[in-house]
Amino acid sequence: MRKAYDAIIVGARCAGSPTAMLLARKGYRVLLTDRANFPSDTMSTHVVQPLAVAALSRWGLAGRLTSTGCPPIHTYAYDFGPFTLQGAPGTKEALVAYCARRTILDKMLVDAASGAGAEVREGFNVDQVLIEDGRVVGIQGFSQNGHPISERAQVVIGADGRNSMVAEAVRPERYNEKPPVLAPYYAYWSGLPMHGRFETYIRPDRGFAAAETHDGLTMIVGGWPYAEFGANRNDIEGNFLKMLDLAPEFGGRVRTAKREARFAGAPTPNFFRKPYGPGWALVGDAGYLKDPITAQGILDAFRDAERCAMALDQTFSAGRSFDAAMGDYQRERDDKVLAMYEFTWQLATLAPPPPETQQLFGAISGNRKAMDGFAQMNAGTISPAEFFSPENISAIMSARGS
Ligand SMILES: Cc1cc2nc3c(=O)[nH]c(=O)nc-3n(C[C@H](O)[C@H](O)[C@H](O)COP(=O)(O)OP(=O)(O)OC[C@H]3O[C@@H](n4cnc5c(N)ncnc54)[C@H](O)[C@@H]3O)c2cc1C
Repeated sequence: MRKAYDAIIVGARCAGSPTAMLLARKGYRVLLTDRANFPSDTMSTHVVQPLAVAALSRWGLAGRLTSTGCPPIHTYAYDFGPFTLQGAPGTKEALVAYCARRTILDKMLVDAASGAGAEVREGFNVDQVLIEDGRVVGIQGFSQNGHPISERAQVVIGADGRNSMVAEAVRPERYNEKPPVLAPYYAYWSGLPMHGRFETYIRPDRGFAAAETHDGLTMIVGGWPYAEFGANRNDIEGNFLKMLDLAPEFGGRVRTAKREARFAGAPTPNFFRKPYGPGWALVGDAGYLKDPITAQGILDAFRDAERCAMALDQTFSAGRSFDAAMGDYQRERDDKVLAMYEFTWQLATLAPPPPETQQLFGAISGNRKAMDGFAQMNAGTISPAEFFSPENISAIMSARGS
């Protein structure tokens, strides 16, 4: 056993690095570990929603992202076939989104954690969570070709993603579970400019979207129901291109462009985990996993980082009990995301909206304020509970034709 840390964080991407950075900025001794070496890619598309960009601004990092040349996205457009709803996804303070490659975003976050004083150990695989008398006290891990090393901390934070080994070790309660319903795939094309638009196409049993990222490339992501996962997996390209042709104008644009990468993707289960217990905490996908169709994972990871770091600060320095502070962390997380979780899952089924929702969409079409609201809801800027509130629906329906 070596020196003790205040916090050891397993996983150094969207959840782990900001948590490490925020704790280190408060003066805590933080060890941030990841088995990856950065820059490193991961299986994820990467729309960084306006409120996630706002978090980067609060942390003094937004300028670093914009300086990488990632094109800003000012418009979200939802093409339902007969009509398109397009609006601005952000707020006055956080106007735009980005579609930032994870090789660039995650490296920037790791560097920010290191710059704040966290000790960063890359290429370090954590293979064991150390538990004494029912309490997590540290981890054991090893570098490539290295001997096992044990480290101790007041708290071990699992920021280790959907297959979290920290969660495996502490076995927290899982709730609100839903099965995977979508089989998504993505790849990158050159020669497909998007002009600041994030375009989404909704068709029967199919949904796909495109946004421009770094290096003159455009990411296209799309999927079919999980029920078709097995049948379609042997010809992903053929099925993907056939899907794009359901929007002939867009399909035509893609055929003049060049695919520059292999397809990647995987179905995602949906669940919440209790994110704390004696000597441990969870942030990001490790604590709350959902289908990527609404592209909320990075925003949710950033929120967890802020809330978890604040709760730990209250327990380390302000004498608040760990359970009270972390209980607030869990409650605030769940209250914030529950409506979006349900909306996301419903959307991921690719089931046609019920007739009253179709009527509502018809009324939104052409109403600038309502279309901005629709884009903001899909971006996570406002909650689906707010957008679909009786007052808002009634305002939209009564503005129809006026
Ligand atoms: C197909 C797809 C598309 C998506 N598109 C979007 C999108 O457009 N926008 C969006 O916001 N979100 C999107 N998401 C979701 C997003 O990828 C996740 O929510 C986000 O990556 C969660 O970040 P995280 O830091 O919690 O976990 P991860 O990004 O999964 O990072 C976990 C890290 O932990 C490390 N690790 C794991 N175990 C160990 C161990 N034992 N020892 C050491 N290190 C370990 C891993 O190496 C990894 O680096 C998408 C997801 C998928 C699958």
